[in-house]
Amino acid sequence: MKSKIWLSSPHMGGGELKYVQEAFDQNWVAPLGKNVDEFEVSIQNYIGEDKLVAALSSGTAALHLALIQLGVGPGDEVICQSFTFSASANPIKYLGATPVFVDSDKKNWNMSPAYLEEAIQDRIKNNKKPKAVIVVHLYGMPAMMDELGAICEKYEIPLVEDSAEALGSTYKDRKCGTFGEFAILSFNGNKIITTSGGGALVISTKEQKDKTIFLSTQARDNAPHYQHSEIGYNYRLSNISAGIGRGQMEVLDNRVQKRREINVFYKELFSNIEAVDVFSETDSDFFSNHWLTSITLNGSSKKTNHDLMSAFAEQNIETRPLWKPMHLQPVFKDCPYYGETVSEDLFGAGLCLPSGSNLTNDDKNRLYDVISNYEF
Ligand SMILES: *Cc1c(COP(=O)(O)O)cnc(C)c1O
Repeated sequence: MKSKIWLSSPHMGGGELKYVQEAFDQNWVAPLGKNVDEFEVSIQNYIGEDKLVAALSSGTAALHLALIQLGVGPGDEVICQSFTFSASANPIKYLGATPVFVDSDKKNWNMSPAYLEEAIQDRIKNNKKPKAVIVVHLYGMPAMMDELGAICEKYEIPLVEDSAEALGSTYKDRKCGTFGEFAILSFNGNKIITTSGGGALVISTKEQKDKTIFLSTQARDNAPHYQHSEIGYNYRLSNISAGIGRGQMEVLDNRVQKRREINVFYKELFSNIEAVDVFSETDSDFFSNHWLTSITLNGSSKKTNHDLMSAFAEQNIETRPLWKPMHLQPVFKDCPYYGETVSEDLFGAGLCLPSGSNLTNDDKNRLYDVISNYEF
């Protein structure tokens, strides 16, 4: 059996162990320390726009703390892109609130501005003004931030960016993760860079950063004993994980470049296969890190995405259908939904292809063989 080609696997840069060793040497084996501080600074410098960053145990934890700070509570509603991973919506439920799901734009795949406005107007009519809007940059593709931002501003609803898949992507030359009042990043093992597990909250003010640290370290009041006047969480990032993150930040630009090269490889490979469309930027305002290159079968072939997935699996190559929209998930079946079948159709026709920055030439040859021998 040939070795497995993964969709997206960790890709160490070489500098990580030095920072981990430093933490051991100084015995800062704890969820705080120099690596945590320096990791935060390196992300801040990378994304710019005077944003502050709090390193946390996961992207999901970051979203939870964002929604808490936006005052989301039991009975509230929060608008969320339907076409995403469940972690974009779960924290809404942690708080006893209800997700209101919105369909995607056909070309951009992220939240449709038209459906967003329809949803907001209808919820306001029901006397339930949404507390926040969660927009996702799926597979690294920046969402339509001008349009979505303008709608959020018009109705005075805070925008939260789920930028878990989009570190290094830009919209109109501005980094994803700097548009919302809050944004989340993820450093899970399959993301463009990893801390083995971890995330960050991108924050606009010093007060919000202090509050985020406070909430993520068990909400300890300023007293010599342990005193609490709020419910806290244990969400801070480990200093060991942050050491990995520091090393990964040093190679982030290279990782973005590599994934974009893989996207070009697929584009060329599929260029004369009529049945397949490679998901691409619509114009130069959008710069995707191409975390995962995704394709859709456009109906000019009788084959399904599952047929193609099997052909890859036979060669020990991992592929995966696109995210199943949240409004179709059993756990969210009773939540309101605005839109048509854009995300549902993408789910039915699409496939994510191996896109790791550590893909070798030998791997590419194996991918080439499967695709060029497949009868679409
Ligand atoms: C990975 C991911 C998350 C969650 O991040 P974790 O660090 O795994 O908690 C949230 N949203 C999207 C779109 C993701 O891909």
